[in-house]
Amino acid sequence: MSAETLVDELATRIAADRDSVPAHWRVEPQAAARAIREIHDLARARNAILLAHNYQLPEVQEAADFVGDSLGLALEARKTTADVIVFCGVHFMAESASILNPGKRVLLPNLSAGCALADSITPESLLQWKARYPDHAVVTYINSSAEVKALSDICCTSANAVSVVRSLPTDKILFTPDRNLGNWVAKQVPEKEIVVYDGACPTHDVLRGASVEKTRAEHPDAVIIAHPECREDILAIADEVCSTSGMIAAVGRHPEARTFLIATEWALIHQLKTRYPDRTFIPADGCIGCRLHCPYMKAIDLGMVRRALVEDVFEITVDPEDAALARRALERMMAVPRDR
Ligand code: SF4
Repeated sequence: MSAETLVDELATRIAADRDSVPAHWRVEPQAAARAIREIHDLARARNAILLAHNYQLPEVQEAADFVGDSLGLALEARKTTADVIVFCGVHFMAESASILNPGKRVLLPNLSAGCALADSITPESLLQWKARYPDHAVVTYINSSAEVKALSDICCTSANAVSVVRSLPTDKILFTPDRNLGNWVAKQVPEKEIVVYDGACPTHDVLRGASVEKTRAEHPDAVIIAHPECREDILAIADEVCSTSGMIAAVGRHPEARTFLIATEWALIHQLKTRYPDRTFIPADGCIGCRLHCPYMKAIDLGMVRRALVEDVFEITVDPEDAALARRALERMMAVPRDR
């Protein structure tokens, strides 16, 4: 395939879900496609792999070698043979990639790509909770710092949180830091005593049931697919509750449905539109990109990815002692399969 045909194909994919992208985030498809071609050449020259989360900008997703949820990205990071991992996601994800790949160079193109949920739990606050619940095993969502993971018995993602809790030999669990995910897991595993930490993702926690009901009234036949970081009343009316990659699979379980309300960050719609071009996907609050928007996940653009490869920035490293303990918690997590 010629270079120009490749650019045209990429441009078509970038433009495919243009209506789902907020106007101020739209890029010129041909220019973005040419930038991606250059990034691919740079990556090849450095034996680098580009990993991107499902919430990244559509053109960054198109640039990536692999796009997925936190669990998929961690697994992909562990098995890569590349020398350099350019992580298009947020800081804790790049940190996890670094922990799992001690010999590799992990780059995060923008150090401002943090995570408010991960920031809601610090080592000090976890130590306080552990002191209050000394008999409880600590299950920590991957959305957390390396130091917090190092203090945890096992990590989980939204893709395997229920299975992780079920896999533990103890019935006493301290689940950190997301309260919505923790409360949802507690409902699925009522036989265990689960104490839930009081953190939340502002992007999901801001979504209100009344907004989803209003959107559903406009699309009464729509299937509601929600991320478990959403509030309890939304999860109660959802037809499917799953991680971002789980949401993509969930659409396939509803072959008759034409319309889906998506209760998670808006950029997932790019993956959904790519996989299911004949279906309609609507943000669950009916608002394109103004509320279900994670500013951290939108901190990386193609220019920054290019700069990361050219200038070798910004390397993410982890204190070796924390890394060893955090690696143990992450590897235990990765040994547990997805919930479904
Ligand atoms: S969507 Fe929420 S949990 Fe995910 S990176 Fe953004 S702030 Fe963190």
